[in-house]
Amino acid sequence: MKDITTTDLANFGYRELKMLELLLTAMREQGLPVNFDKAGVVPMMNTQSGCVFLTNENFEVAMMNGEHLEKWHSCSYCGHEGFAEDFEHEPMHDDCNEQMAWAGLPEYQPYTGE
Ligand SMILES: [Zn+2]
Repeated sequence: MKDITTTDLANFGYRELKMLELLLTAMREQGLPVNFDKAGVVPMMNTQSGCVFLTNENFEVAMMNGEHLEKWHSCSYCGHEGFAEDFEHEPMHDDCNEQMAWAGLPEYQPYTGE
């Protein structure tokens, strides 16, 4: 079975290489996102979506949000995804709150369920 993601630049097409150039330019000029772990950073492409991003040993993801290189957050509990500005979500578990706090959201709804 073919992997969905690849780090082999030979598999990157014209469009994906352009996206990688933007990522590298942003990384050079802005640095990596502050909350993005700096260990084992590599470019990666999702071969199904054609999405190009930077990832690291902890499988964190950084992508372009407009002009800015930002961390892409993904809630391991409920699967909610987004840049910090879109990451606020209705907590289904304490883990949701914890991950919103890690994403640097100043306010988040306390989990009030069972
Ligand atoms: Zn969640």
